[in-house]
Amino acid sequence: MEVDVTVLCDAVAVFPEPVQRALPGWSAEHQAWTAANLPGNVAADGGWLLHFHSYLVTSERGAVLVDTGIGPAGSEAAQWLGTRGRLPTLLADAGVGADEIDTVILTHVHLDHAGWNTTSSDRPRFANATYVVQQAELDHLGDGPTYERYLKPIATAGQLRAVSGSCALGEFRLHLTPGHTPGHQCVVTDVAILGGDVLVHPAQARWPELTYVYERDPAVAVTSRHDVLTLAAATGLPIAAAHPQTALTGSGPVLNLSALTCRLGQR
Ligand SMILES: [Zn+2]
Ligand SMILES: [Zn+2]
Repeated sequence: MEVDVTVLCDAVAVFPEPVQRALPGWSAEHQAWTAANLPGNVAADGGWLLHFHSYLVTSERGAVLVDTGIGPAGSEAAQWLGTRGRLPTLLADAGVGADEIDTVILTHVHLDHAGWNTTSSDRPRFANATYVVQQAELDHLGDGPTYERYLKPIATAGQLRAVSGSCALGEFRLHLTPGHTPGHQCVVTDVAILGGDVLVHPAQARWPELTYVYERDPAVAVTSRHDVLTLAAATGLPIAAAHPQTALTGSGPVLNLSALTCRLGQR
């Protein structure tokens, strides 16, 4: 089945903290490698420039959205980053209405991946979609404020589906990759591995052991990164993660697939 993946770059923003604090093992070597190979991830002041990607995956089966970005002006992630998302406009540009999305897969439930889950009136924004999340992520969230804000309206509408562990989902495979959060998952398609935050900075494809300060369990996150890099090498699929500008391989050259370039992601 032919699968088409489109990057929807909800926002581009500078990480609000120094990159050395975000990635505690950060060195001059990492900085030089990133600047030489992936300058689109380096801010003018040398800081970390992040993209916030959702992925639209279309096939004859329907339209699937992977992650929902930072959300509108005033959302928690938008306030943290000092910007705003534009996912609804990008979806419209792609010719897909919110009602046409039949599945929303959340790689995990962080504020910058679930920002457009609901409308301002606390209804599911994707009214005909089943939202798929790992049970371990739900267990981790409990009934806390993140669940209340981003998932409870989905559950109330009967649109939340929990899955447990790695499994098939339609033409995709969900691959459990804990560490960043307990129920983090990647979406394996025929075109790319949609990696969420299994790696947050592109240098982690070159140095998987480079940990991120907001990883829930850094040692497990490193294991998951190795796991996905091994999968990418075995399948030949690039890893299209949420925040790096480009799709990545592990030790090999960095790929910049035209199908996976930001449509409107540049500032
Ligand atoms: Zn995250
Ligand atoms: Zn993220």
